[in-house]
Amino acid sequence: MIIHERMSFHKITTFRREAPINQLLYVRNSRELGKGGEYAYKKGLPVLLLGDGSNVLPTKIGFNGLVVIYKTPKCTFEPLSDNIVRIPGGQSLRATTLSLARCGMDLTTFSGIPGTIGAAVHNNSGRTALGRNIGECVKEVSTLDIRTGKTHSMTNEELVFRNRSTVLKEPNNGTVITSVTLELPRMSSKKTMNFYKTVFRERYKKNREGVFTAGSAWINDTLSRVCNFGEETIEGGSIQTRDLIKKLGLDKIDINGAHLTRKYCFLRLEPDSSGKNTRTSDDDIRALMNLVGGRLKDEFGVDPVLEIEIIGPNGMISSEDFLSKNY
Ligand SMILES: Cc1cc2nc3c(=O)[nH]c(=O)nc-3n(C[C@H](O)[C@H](O)[C@H](O)COP(=O)(O)OP(=O)(O)OC[C@H]3O[C@@H](n4cnc5c(N)ncnc54)[C@H](O)[C@@H]3O)c2cc1C
Repeated sequence: MIIHERMSFHKITTFRREAPINQLLYVRNSRELGKGGEYAYKKGLPVLLLGDGSNVLPTKIGFNGLVVIYKTPKCTFEPLSDNIVRIPGGQSLRATTLSLARCGMDLTTFSGIPGTIGAAVHNNSGRTALGRNIGECVKEVSTLDIRTGKTHSMTNEELVFRNRSTVLKEPNNGTVITSVTLELPRMSSKKTMNFYKTVFRERYKKNREGVFTAGSAWINDTLSRVCNFGEETIEGGSIQTRDLIKKLGLDKIDINGAHLTRKYCFLRLEPDSSGKNTRTSDDDIRALMNLVGGRLKDEFGVDPVLEIEIIGPNGMISSEDFLSKNY
């Protein structure tokens, strides 16, 4: 077990923010996860689990414990029947969808989403525009409690899938998804590969705009009721949060490197010449988030919910704690 000391979040999260990490450990499977948990327990360190770091924002203080990065290097899946497969939780979602497509199993809708499959299930990741979320394919998951080493399994119902959340998305509950069992539509591999290529092409530009971001910072919901904006009447259900942000011109604001991208309104932390973000403070990000939240509420009665998770000094913190500096 190799523990890396005094590391930074800039290399392991997509925001590329410079923020210190006390200790860092890479693991590939349940056995190594268990050892990492045991080590943290013996040393009395808080543990933070990450996959590809594409849905998290570290605060400038960094993390005062052991960060465990769970990624499975090889792409494998275990067929349990004709249309049911079991996949390691640390595996890349993109590589998994490709290898399943080659075998005529369709998970392609989610192929453009960065990150690992365990994290995608934890967050019920998906495609808002298509109204599709990964939870609809999940039969069950195997889990490991990183604090106690106890293993367990949870059914789809027990996970309680909601819009970009599950019961596991509560700060610091310690549950790692070590494998995911999926039930998928079966078709010819030619058809699934064509689907895969279409999604890949369509997502290419979106993911390019997503560099130094974690995708949508807020859940990109649709407006639930009719609203008047100047002379314009906007019908409920007709417009997404990011389009409301654009209507308010909030995509043109930059607070010391914190800004929203032009097309998709992803929160982006502008890097400096070193390729990482060092200059944007937590107050800058807070100011931008409060401005966006306040204007959406005042103009459209919308209370945007953060989709990204915020890493505080001892573990994940709620958006309320971040916005009120309570960490
Ligand atoms: C350019 C871009 C586009 C994006 N587009 C989309 C999109 O279209 N739809 C969408 O839903 N999301 C999108 N995202 C967000 C992100 O890709 C997803 O939320 C993804 O599922 C996060 O995976 P990760 O491995 O990077 O998780 P991380 O950011 O590393 O972790 C996120 C959370 O998952 C937990 N976690 C990690 N691994 C596990 C595990 N094995 N078991 C249990 N919990 C775990 C972590 O503790 C943390 O709480 C986008 C991000 C980017 C950068």
